[in-house]
Amino acid sequence: MRSPLRILIVAAASALLIGQAQALQYRQSKTVDDNLARTLLQYAKDAPPQLHKIIGDVPIYVMDDIAMFKSPAVARELKMNRAFQQSVSNGLAGLAMWPIAKGRGFRSISLFADKIRDAPAERQRAIVVHELMHQLDHALGNASQNRTFMAAYKTDVQNFNKMTRTMSAEDREFFNRWLGYYIKSSHEAFAEVATHLVYPQSNGDERAIFFGVFSNTAAALEKMLRARDIPIDVRKATPATIDWPEAGSRSGSCLIGEGLVRPCTRQ
Ligand SMILES: [Zn+2]
Repeated sequence: MRSPLRILIVAAASALLIGQAQALQYRQSKTVDDNLARTLLQYAKDAPPQLHKIIGDVPIYVMDDIAMFKSPAVARELKMNRAFQQSVSNGLAGLAMWPIAKGRGFRSISLFADKIRDAPAERQRAIVVHELMHQLDHALGNASQNRTFMAAYKTDVQNFNKMTRTMSAEDREFFNRWLGYYIKSSHEAFAEVATHLVYPQSNGDERAIFFGVFSNTAAALEKMLRARDIPIDVRKATPATIDWPEAGSRSGSCLIGEGLVRPCTRQ
């Protein structure tokens, strides 16, 4: 039987220091590109120290692809049962896990190089930070399910659904493809909106639409992050109104986190 460590080797011995005391454990597959792996690790290390302090020591695995994640060796390494392992979506660029039940893996982040490799730098960073934000959600006791967060999130979901209902089918498809992943799950909205509060995307139009759609979620999260001294980027802005159809006619890069791997350009 092959040892998991023949696939996942320690690439940077566990003492990469963050701030005073936090170590970032990091493993990469033998076949993954070293530069890419180093870049992704750097994005994780660059995240605010206050964030690392709360989430603690979470090992980060950089794997070639989801097929490697679904191998028997990785099931053993991450303590996943095979049924759970095989149920993970093949479309993901990254995955944050914590043991919500026996066999559901141990607290870790997995990143899949094949999906991330060709993405723009800020999107690569967003994928890494998105996974860190899932760990923050977990470390704060499932904050994406608490009453304050849920009230804000549900308001944004209702507004999004109301707006998209009146659009052309084409526009609706565009916005659902871009933002639907976060509209369908408060966990995903938490991770992605928190990512954009700390690292907003550089495209001002997309940034305005994103924070327009998630205005209530962003306000609730901003309060939560500020209360924990996690710095918010000043570029974050909430527009009073969103010009939906015009926005939809742009071809944007639609910078997003793990869930949407297709380019979000309009056909
Ligand atoms: Zn996610």
